[in-house]
Amino acid sequence: MSDATPTVEEAIVAQARVHAREVADEIGVDLASVDWAVSARAKRRAGVCRYDHEREVATVVLSRRAYRSYDSGEFEAIVRHELVHAWEFQTHGESGHGSRFRERAAAVDAPRHCEPFSEPRYRLVCSDCGWEGKRHRASNPVKAPDQYRCGDCGGGYRVEHVESGRTWTTAGGYGAARAALGDDW
Ligand SMILES: [Zn+2]
Ligand SMILES: [Zn+2]
Repeated sequence: MSDATPTVEEAIVAQARVHAREVADEIGVDLASVDWAVSARAKRRAGVCRYDHEREVATVVLSRRAYRSYDSGEFEAIVRHELVHAWEFQTHGESGHGSRFRERAAAVDAPRHCEPFSEPRYRLVCSDCGWEGKRHRASNPVKAPDQYRCGDCGGGYRVEHVESGRTWTTAGGYGAARAALGDDW
């Protein structure tokens, strides 16, 4: 037993493995032949799944940046997306984003696309240190940013609705932006 603090990479893989065990049966993926890795450099993609045809092992590579900028629900959705790829590789020897992929992804509530970095719906930004997180859903900090503080510096948050450019810092501001945007929300 070591009492060393786990590295960020170990923490990411540990969380991914825990979630993978919860969803493996539903996806149909064999976790015994899935390897895990973390990329510190991936900027655009939250995750990727590679397949070694000779060893018949799928490797899910998760981006450190995605882990940092997503909440755990969104991070887990990425894990499910990559595990659907792993399942496709294991059962069909290839994987893409075709109808077979989309059906299985929909069944386990995983996003259809690999690149959620490209278009988040909201940006959560620290007004003090500039930390930025991408959010695809209206999570609690998006709805009431004044109830939360930046994990890095303790500063206050501002939320931006990416498509319209509207920003708010309070629950009231969120409600007003929603009302103003109406159908364009
Ligand atoms: Zn994908
Ligand atoms: Zn900050």
